[in-house]
Amino acid sequence: MKAIKELSPQVGTAAACRSLGVPRATLYRHRQSKPAEPATTLPGTRLRVRPPRALSDQERQRVLDVLHSEPFADKAPAEVYAGLLDQGQYLCSIRTMYRILDERQEVRERRDQLRHPTYHKPQLVATAPNQVWSWDITKLLGPAKWTYFRAIQLTPPTTTGSMVGMEEFYPRTILELEDQFATEDACREYLMRLRWPKGFVCPRCGHQGGWSATRGLVICQGCRYQASVTAGTIFQDTHKPLRLWFRAIWQVTSQKNGASALNVQQVLGLGSYLTAWTWLHKLRRAMVRPGRDCLGGRVEVDETYVGGESEGKGRSTDKALVVIAVEEDGLGMGRIRMARIADATRDSLHRFIQASIQPGSSIHTDGNPSYTGLEAIGYAHEATVLLGRGKDAATELLPRVHRIAALLKRWLLGTHQGAVHPTYLDYYLDEYTFRFNRRTSRSRGKLFYRLLQQAAQVEPVPYRSILADAAKTDDHNM
Ligand SMILES: [Zn+2]
Repeated sequence: MKAIKELSPQVGTAAACRSLGVPRATLYRHRQSKPAEPATTLPGTRLRVRPPRALSDQERQRVLDVLHSEPFADKAPAEVYAGLLDQGQYLCSIRTMYRILDERQEVRERRDQLRHPTYHKPQLVATAPNQVWSWDITKLLGPAKWTYFRAIQLTPPTTTGSMVGMEEFYPRTILELEDQFATEDACREYLMRLRWPKGFVCPRCGHQGGWSATRGLVICQGCRYQASVTAGTIFQDTHKPLRLWFRAIWQVTSQKNGASALNVQQVLGLGSYLTAWTWLHKLRRAMVRPGRDCLGGRVEVDETYVGGESEGKGRSTDKALVVIAVEEDGLGMGRIRMARIADATRDSLHRFIQASIQPGSSIHTDGNPSYTGLEAIGYAHEATVLLGRGKDAATELLPRVHRIAALLKRWLLGTHQGAVHPTYLDYYLDEYTFRFNRRTSRSRGKLFYRLLQQAAQVEPVPYRSILADAAKTDDHNM
């Protein structure tokens, strides 16, 4: 440092520092540093000459007493100062108050420490129907996440006519989906709720009640069996995250016409087309609800050929015969059922009708002799003979069936680009039926919920079994 000080007047400060390898900042810091203070002062305090007009010790004590007094003990000096002025008193400046307090280390924490009481949102929680009664249509929290009770007031509240039912929860938009199913745990919990809506039931011993373990396992309280949420559903043995499955289901249900395997593969970034194809087939299995209701009322039934190069009724190996039943609902259409049949014989058609239409219903067909004899198995039959009429007669007489046939063919050509092998046609018919029968759903999310709910209840379908169906030509869940 000394060398630099000698050198700098001659060559300049920068050059001197550079030549001796000392940073200039170091030099300046060195110049500014003062000699160490005498050891008599306490660390942290500075020697200060007492100004001639400073407050005397008695005056300082008086200020301190005021600061410690009841009304000002918790006030900041500025508030004390203002308070004193209101009373017509002036003791000292605000700064002096700080200085006096600082000497005794009393500056901090003079303020009132405001503490808000913890606010608990009032909530009514019901664990079973009929516990919490509401004045109006209200959504009430259920016993677990994502379950709600919807209270509906049917009659004036003075009478006992309220109805409470468990409401289904489902995402309504893609954002809700992303938020609610952001983690595997969230997906597993949702699946658990769908699978055991009334609480866990052991699949081995039937005991009610289990402990949740990691990775979606539930341990039976009765026999200690470790049940997996996905075992026994179409998600069994999947190596892909449930999050991906949920998004595949959303992809399939959120669009009016569904999604093709190629579409799902691209959107979800699945490695192989075959994975997407298999997933969609597994989901199609879930689209048929076990023990679904049969059609009833007045039902139109007719058969049509699907696939092949040319439309119309021609025998060909790449064409499949599909029988369609449509409920009449005024001038419109109710629910539908479809099935692929091996041939248009009386046996095939009667079996389809018995499997999908309630006895006692009225069945409207064309003059095909295969439909005769329906009265014998408990149906009312109305046959309209088309022979000798114009080309459009069939469309006029059974308009609903023909409308469905046209829509089905358009869907197969549009969404699936006609890439439907006749052996898998059954599953596409199931998907179309699922979509059509839920076409009036308020929300697409409801379809998501239904499909997921059924997927959690349908037996697992291994990939091999889906391929094996190719060999099977037997009738399919009729
Ligand atoms: Zn058990």
